[in-house]
Amino acid sequence: MGRLFIESLSGPRIFKCKFCKVDSASHDHIVSKDFQGRYGRAYLFRSVVNVCLGPREERLLMSGLHTVNDIYCSSCQQILGWRYVSLRFFF
Ligand SMILES: [Zn+2]
Repeated sequence: MGRLFIESLSGPRIFKCKFCKVDSASHDHIVSKDFQGRYGRAYLFRSVVNVCLGPREERLLMSGLHTVNDIYCSSCQQILGWRYVSLRFFF
């Protein structure tokens, strides 16, 4: 394994991994707060950092059947959310 590269975000409000506290997304990159995840409310971001993707799979969501990847923190490997294959991110 190579050295882990962690990207830092700047700005007044930064979302962090709830497990290891590395930066995950900027408040400025929220597209919508009107989503529902498996564990409650979810935010849609247009970009995130310090994540890696799980395998692509079909999943039945509130809005129908979508192709998604789960998103994992690249630092601690905990699951953070999911991504629509249309390149949108949720936490
Ligand atoms: Zn983490």
